[in-house]
Amino acid sequence: MPDTRPQLDAFDRGLLQAVVHGEARLTPEQSLRLLTDMPLPELGFWADQRCRAVHGDAIRTYVIDRNINYTNVCTAKCTFCAFRRDEGDADAYVLPVERILQKIQELVDIGGTQILMQGGMHPGLPLGWYEDLLRAIKSRFPQVHVHAFSPPEFVEFVRFFDPPGDTLPEKLAFVLRRLRDAGLDSVPGGGGEIFAPAVRRKIGLGKCTGDEWLSVMREAHRLGMNTSATMMFGHIEGYADRIHHMEQVRSWQDRAVADFARDGGGRCMAFISWSFQRENTPLGRARNWGEGPGDRLQDPFPGDVVARLDGDGSKESHPEFGRRVRMSGSTDYLRTQAVSRLHLDNVWSIGSSWVTMGPLVGQAGLRHGANDMGSVMMEENVVSSAGTTHCLNEAEICRLIRDAGFLPAQRDNRYDLLRVHDGAASPDLRVRNWAEHRPRKLHAESPREKPTSVTLTVGSVEAEPR
Ligand code: SF4
Repeated sequence: MPDTRPQLDAFDRGLLQAVVHGEARLTPEQSLRLLTDMPLPELGFWADQRCRAVHGDAIRTYVIDRNINYTNVCTAKCTFCAFRRDEGDADAYVLPVERILQKIQELVDIGGTQILMQGGMHPGLPLGWYEDLLRAIKSRFPQVHVHAFSPPEFVEFVRFFDPPGDTLPEKLAFVLRRLRDAGLDSVPGGGGEIFAPAVRRKIGLGKCTGDEWLSVMREAHRLGMNTSATMMFGHIEGYADRIHHMEQVRSWQDRAVADFARDGGGRCMAFISWSFQRENTPLGRARNWGEGPGDRLQDPFPGDVVARLDGDGSKESHPEFGRRVRMSGSTDYLRTQAVSRLHLDNVWSIGSSWVTMGPLVGQAGLRHGANDMGSVMMEENVVSSAGTTHCLNEAEICRLIRDAGFLPAQRDNRYDLLRVHDGAASPDLRVRNWAEHRPRKLHAESPREKPTSVTLTVGSVEAEPR
């Protein structure tokens, strides 16, 4: 693993050249300075250089998958979430297995290769329900990669199922092993948000801590499963919180590689960050910094007053912490993504988030350190609940990648290339009239389409699907 050179300024060209070539790694202090002080064109240049050193100059990728949210019932009350419902709410739901299989069939029909399946954290579904679901998926679609659940769900599974074991890692390992044996292939990094406790306690009510999140991934890696990591920023956090979050991902990945790689262990394959979407969320009603009584824009943002690079900030450091938001725009998004490419030297893929930022910012991300455009995504329920409904089909995503100067290629979950679109048969090059080539509306679950005739067995109780 490359050394750090803490004596050098973050703008030192020799240091940045060494980072590009994998001969040095940035300290958290240096990454924070890049995030806050380096002009975006320069920051984008260095991140792009690093991305080219890792992934080459030619190809940038995407995946065809489908987000399936099997339930919107959730025990947590994250203040940034517009998706969750309580059991008993009129529009709460649990998807019947047959409905999930139907969705996967629709995905397979358009050449999709994986599902990203997550809740809600539903307290009434037993472990057997998840095992039966995974077995049903694998028996009908053995070729489909199941990238499912998330660290907060696993921590809640431990609470719901009370599995054997004396420690949280032992209990997590039990549940992970059972679900892996039933068909779970890898664990997505949902629920990362911001790891710093002061921020997490404010926005992630009822959700696992950052350390618990990282513990889930460690147990998954120990069992040979790959994972990803995420970060949601642009709300109450300070810039140092973002760097602390990246540093946690990097140091736990170092441990995974050191401890498990030789034994066929897993690792974090990708880091994807996106900005908070505020519509319909409790947190979205917080005032923007500068718009509250007594706010003075020349003063530091409360989140920056509280944030520490070691994650140990205290909410007592500023009276308005948690009550003011600093929303992220396109330049802040690109800066953060670029720094993630430079800081996370041990994570293979940096994903560009067109789903939240829009297709053109997602495309610009390919010149700011991202190698992957993520998913064509025929369905999305969580971000769209918060008012953001960008939608792309395969031809459009290929066109965005090609117009950014790269060959588009479809990948699988392991980032192996499935199809490189270098000929006239490419999805985008077959389109004759882009004006008529609009993607269909993004699919989202709605109460109107809820099936009503299927009965779920929940423990010893028969429960109607929500
Ligand atoms: S973000 Fe996820 S864990 Fe948090 S309330 Fe929404 S559904 Fe639940």
